[in-house]
Amino acid sequence: MGIKKSNLKQLEFFIKTYGDTVNPEAIIKEDILRQGLSFDHIPSGGNFAGKSYFIFSFNVDNDKDILSNKFPEEIAICSGPFDLKKTVVSVRINKSSPYKIKYIQSENLKNSPAIFLDGHFIAGVEFSAEKSYMTKKISNGKNVKDLAPTIEWGYLIYLAVFRMCQYFAEGLECKFCDMNFNYVNQRKINKDYSAIKSVDDIIEALSIIEAAEDSTAEAYTLTGGSIIDEIKFDGDEEIDFYIRFLEKIEEKFKGKWISKVVVQAYPKDKLKRLKDAGAYIYHTNFEVWDKGLFKKVCPGKSRYIGRNAWINRIVDAVEVFGDYRVIPNFVAGVELAKPYGFDSIDDAVRSTAEGIEFFMSKNIIPRYTTWCPEKTSNLGRSGNTPAPLEYYVKLLLKWHELHSKYNLPVPEGYGRAGAGQAEFSVSGFMDAFKI
Ligand code: SF4
Repeated sequence: MGIKKSNLKQLEFFIKTYGDTVNPEAIIKEDILRQGLSFDHIPSGGNFAGKSYFIFSFNVDNDKDILSNKFPEEIAICSGPFDLKKTVVSVRINKSSPYKIKYIQSENLKNSPAIFLDGHFIAGVEFSAEKSYMTKKISNGKNVKDLAPTIEWGYLIYLAVFRMCQYFAEGLECKFCDMNFNYVNQRKINKDYSAIKSVDDIIEALSIIEAAEDSTAEAYTLTGGSIIDEIKFDGDEEIDFYIRFLEKIEEKFKGKWISKVVVQAYPKDKLKRLKDAGAYIYHTNFEVWDKGLFKKVCPGKSRYIGRNAWINRIVDAVEVFGDYRVIPNFVAGVELAKPYGFDSIDDAVRSTAEGIEFFMSKNIIPRYTTWCPEKTSNLGRSGNTPAPLEYYVKLLLKWHELHSKYNLPVPEGYGRAGAGQAEFSVSGFMDAFKI
């Protein structure tokens, strides 16, 4: 599988070769995301938003010393030798990442975090701020931050209301996913970490966020694991379960935030129910485009719904939600993971670009997140290292080339676009817009 760690020379090469087209901010962000970050010591001082482990672990390493200490949810990198505009990056802990956060001690800067690549200074660092609502509790003592964490520098409220996925019970989980393992790990250190959240708790937590003067949230995502066994859910099918939350949230906060719903691929009659309940943007994640890989990497989705049905339902969803409001996600980089993946970077990009173009040609805007090979996922456990930077740079180029070709708008619900503006923290596609 090979070690694909970056060094400064490689990074400089990609920025020199492609930086005018996709900008250095997006390139460096992808490089940090794919490899994660290490810290030379546990961050001191509590005035930053700690990782909330809202759905997956999003850490390469999930050892006890990592999970039981506070690390920032996100960092923003700025200035430095590449003269970076402020760039928000999700924190994924990887003890052996070549990217390390250290604290600078100088006459002017006392204990200021900065990011280094193999010991070379790359940029100054700011940690995501702890907002007033993050330290509050609802009436039954549960933490707002646990019920309704905010990510993307405060732009997005992330409501994972079922933090397990029933595909795991049948050994059919997506191979890159560590959701149920993250749940087990979180329970070891936090007895309040619940698998299923209650509608009333969510409403109360959202009321606190709504009232907070320092809230900058503009959208929420309602999501959770797949439900395939309704007997264990008191007769609720997946769609019933999520619609109960959606209806209550929209009834109370209609128009306050853009609603985005991540559930499985459904036929039109069920999608109309979602739309009527208040869903504005429909995410039904496709994960990986190639036919053979979809079957191997997403065995549950493949068995219970099937690739062709999943594709057709995404296409049909445009009739329900409208142009540009159907946004399936790809987990970029898993196409290169062993033992199933492509051997060549160009084949991987070509395959995913085929899927991106197929959807974009139908006024669907697929997006992607940069794959984090968590050691608590199947692919991480089997020793996979991240996909190379070259893959991510080529994918950024291709995504934007196709986005221009089909004359599509910036997707709604993702915050601002462009270097120095983007809040979306788990891939560089929003940073790479030229605005
Ligand atoms: S459907 Fe796949 S990616 Fe989503 S939670 Fe289940 S196993 Fe994870």
